Amino acid sequence: MAGAAYNTYGKGAYMSDRALNYIGGEWCWPDGAAEIPCVNPADTRDVICVAPDSPAEEVSRAVAAARAAYPAWKRTPPPERAKIITRAGQIMAERKNAMGALVTRECGKPLPEGLGDVQEAIDMAHLAAGEGRRMHGKTAPSELPDKLCLSFREPKGVCGLITPWNFPVAIPAWKGLHALICGNTIVLKPAEDTPMCGVEFVRALVDAGVPKGVVNLVHGSGEVTGKAIVEHGDIDLVSFTGSTQTGCYVASTCGATGKGVSLECGGKNAQIVMDDANLDLALEGATWGAFGTAGQRCTATSRLIVHEKVHDAMVERIVNAAKNVKVGNGMDDGVLTGPIINETQMRRVLEYIRIGRDDDGATLACGGERMSDGALAHGWFVRPTVFTGVTRGMRIFKEEIFGPVLSVVKVGSLDEAVETLNDCAYGLSSSIYTQDVNAAMRAMRDIEAGIVYINGPTIGAEVHMPFGGVKGTGNGHREAAWTGLDIFSEWKTVYVDYSGKLQRAQIDNAE
Ligand code: NDP
Repeated sequence: MAGAAYNTYGKGAYMSDRALNYIGGEWCWPDGAAEIPCVNPADTRDVICVAPDSPAEEVSRAVAAARAAYPAWKRTPPPERAKIITRAGQIMAERKNAMGALVTRECGKPLPEGLGDVQEAIDMAHLAAGEGRRMHGKTAPSELPDKLCLSFREPKGVCGLITPWNFPVAIPAWKGLHALICGNTIVLKPAEDTPMCGVEFVRALVDAGVPKGVVNLVHGSGEVTGKAIVEHGDIDLVSFTGSTQTGCYVASTCGATGKGVSLECGGKNAQIVMDDANLDLALEGATWGAFGTAGQRCTATSRLIVHEKVHDAMVERIVNAAKNVKVGNGMDDGVLTGPIINETQMRRVLEYIRIGRDDDGATLACGGERMSDGALAHGWFVRPTVFTGVTRGMRIFKEEIFGPVLSVVKVGSLDEAVETLNDCAYGLSSSIYTQDVNAAMRAMRDIEAGIVYINGPTIGAEVHMPFGGVKGTGNGHREAAWTGLDIFSEWKTVYVDYSGKLQRAQIDNAE
């Protein structure tokens, strides 16, 4: 590509008000690209930076850099790759406070959650680096004499990573660090709402010594930059986290262009509260699950399925709790519910509240409106909302809202509770509160979801366990854990014949 078309800032460059791309070992800005402003959703007067809406040519430059770097990185022994990832984890730990505050400023989640986001990336660095010395294959006996069968993992190649705004450091780390330890090179496109978090994640890897071209960063909108990644002819795998609607486009386009694809998409997660549950514990779980991160986690609790015997007591508790949730700027102490990420999404949440009230006919027990008084005047805040009398046909029961809105459904038995939970197009996370071990075991068996919590909220995944869901949530992959390696590697099988003669399997040894 012609160098003149790009403003190149060099390897050490870093600008706090411009989210630069990082391509082939240099920070750069695609000349002439439209600028996307990034603002603090808690106070939109706080303009954090601008990011380029990187066009397809910029994506091509990043893919070419990743392709050029691939052979050497693939040949680098995994324990050597692991050293860089370990260092990146250490760097993120040193920068945790600043990075956590940036997460809060860019995406609005309260500071403890911002710090948790970075901690998840640090944890992921430990996990992925450990895989550098594991990444086990299998050896097996051959059916023929003097012959050995081996299998081992190989990287996929150049991976395009498209990530959402709600875990702006953790999700790039989940995908990126597993991709790297397996020997892939990457092109990361963070969400346009959180470009600086993407920069900080990449900067940790750069400062840790990742070779040029191995990690590339391109900012931009999904429609321009994301689409260019999905449609690019020289990308081997796209790993995507985001809405089911976008995920369907990504999967079909990758299918048509012969790429691998892994999807982590939406959820409509439910917490069951049985008649023998510890209601105080169930309340803490539901409050955290529904209103933490302003309900904007793929694992957020958006349905509360309550046994009729404790329904009224539970409703009273959760409505009271919702009314007392502290809403505000995530930098302020004690805030549980921060802002919605942007105005479009806030209007979507408010529209769902209208649908729940007017079209569905559910009872609005509390909340249901934008909050814009005083300090909240310049942000996108929605009051924590509880609907009661929700039934299975309603749209607020079925569709992902991605906001602090909880729908309560009354049921009469465990079977009905599980059936109600399963009556859903998604299957990511789920939870049951009960003190009956038999009920817990049956729920664990019968719930259709990738994740089940017993006496815990629907949120709280740990990086060393498989993460993902069934039905509309994904396409069968599980991120993080040991299963994340399966997304970013291929199996190679090797037969070593040391007999010195032609041996024919299934023929020479036939019965
Ligand atoms: P989107 O699908 O809109 O965006 C996710 C990412 O895809 C962003 O980087 C976005 O870019 C990009 N994108 C958007 N359109 C395209 C396109 N046509 N081609 C390629 N890339 C595109 O989701 P949201 O940002 O709204 O995130 C919320 C959704 O993500 C929720 O549905 C939630 O459940 C889900 N999610 C799932 C998780 C899981 O692990 N299962 C975890 C977190 C969220 P940009 O934003 O810059 O336009």
